[in-house]
Amino acid sequence: MHECCGVFGVYAPNEDVARLTFFALFALQHRGQESAGIATTDGKRLQVYAKMGLVSQVFSEDSLSRLSGDIAIGHNRYSTRGSSRVINVQPIIVGSGSNTIAIAHNGNIVNAEHLREELCDLGYTFHTSTDTEVIVNLILSSPDKDWVGKIRYAMHRLQGAYSLTIMTNHSLFGVRDPFGVRPLCLGSINGGWVIASESCALDHIGASFIREVEPGEIISITGNGVDSYREEVGRRGLCIFEYIYFARPDSVINGRLLYPARQAMGEGLAEEHAVDADVVMGVPDSATAAGIGYAQKSGIPLAEGLIKNRYVGRTFIEPDQRIRDLGVKLKFNPLPQMLDGKRVVVVDDSIVRGTTTPQVVKLLRRAGAREVHMRICAPPLRYPCFFGVDMATRWELIAAQKTIPEVRDFIGADSLGYLSIDGLIKAVALPKDIFCLACFTGDYPIPVQLEMAKLALETMPQLGHPGGKQR
Ligand code: SF4
Repeated sequence: MHECCGVFGVYAPNEDVARLTFFALFALQHRGQESAGIATTDGKRLQVYAKMGLVSQVFSEDSLSRLSGDIAIGHNRYSTRGSSRVINVQPIIVGSGSNTIAIAHNGNIVNAEHLREELCDLGYTFHTSTDTEVIVNLILSSPDKDWVGKIRYAMHRLQGAYSLTIMTNHSLFGVRDPFGVRPLCLGSINGGWVIASESCALDHIGASFIREVEPGEIISITGNGVDSYREEVGRRGLCIFEYIYFARPDSVINGRLLYPARQAMGEGLAEEHAVDADVVMGVPDSATAAGIGYAQKSGIPLAEGLIKNRYVGRTFIEPDQRIRDLGVKLKFNPLPQMLDGKRVVVVDDSIVRGTTTPQVVKLLRRAGAREVHMRICAPPLRYPCFFGVDMATRWELIAAQKTIPEVRDFIGADSLGYLSIDGLIKAVALPKDIFCLACFTGDYPIPVQLEMAKLALETMPQLGHPGGKQR
């Protein structure tokens, strides 16, 4: 499962804003490994440098030194809407003269197709296939005179998830959709200001965390300081997967540090799905903390049974068939000394399509594990995500097609236990009604366009019926 993007913005006239943005994007690399980009302005013109690849591959001293200015925004991308091509990299710059803006987007706009058609009819042209270009053209099409008014106009028309950093020649904006699906926070640095997807980016560049950007809020940063404008918000919909998997464990979202939240998920699993076993391990890195939580609660010793190759990221070198056949072995190497003859509890963050988990189970058995008991922090995923998570169609979601015992047999485990929704909420320790839980419940906080729902159905083998087995 992939999240789609990380965004960053900095307004700091006395700083090397491009370099700060580089290191912030470096800290946000886990949110997208497909492309990276930085846009800056010196007050007269906006410029951008963006390419396919990891942050460290995209930028050099030379490219950073050419990005001068007082304001910068940056973006790490994993494509969910708009294909994986260099033309779709962000930030994008659109407009002309004083009516020019740069934008970086994390999320997914569910009514993008409809808005794109409307804007095309008004004479707007599109150069990319991303919904981000729809947002930017919507802002530019606003009859309002000032930028806050223009952004507000767009917010009233957009449906979906968007955490944005936006830059004009003289201002920086941070914008979060009224549901607050994706995180966004505000910080300060040496008299300047920063906006980032996650607080870990602030820590890495020596910025201080100030607060979250609230759902429906526009933060405007200019030479006059910081202003806040709020849109009316109704139902909230923060993606629970930020806590389970997407965000880094050292980030704080809604006042809750993620590491102890993940540990508490493991504790919850130990309470809900106890089993006699010799060792517990979390699948690194996303379930490491949950593995520790399970071990502490159950009293079963913790072991490191899988070593992760930490430098596996997105590569543009195609593996040959022999390498491809190694599958998950490219990512993990088991430690037979820790596993041989043992009954092992394995804690993982989620099971989506069920393609990786059977390989992990096989790997552990081959390394000598006598029993493998899978414990999963996310409840069964039965509905697709329309808000920027590249998950799967409903047809591909294994828990939408099989009962839990069938999933257990399919992955080849001796037992399988998913954390309940109530157990998950207890672990996160925040009110349930601030979250989107749609991929477990099918109750979407944002009305999902009929066409998108239809598309999800049409990609299933039996047209018009949501998959073979319905549970
Ligand atoms: S549907 Fe699931 S993955 Fe998508 S935003 Fe909601 S909780 Fe997150």
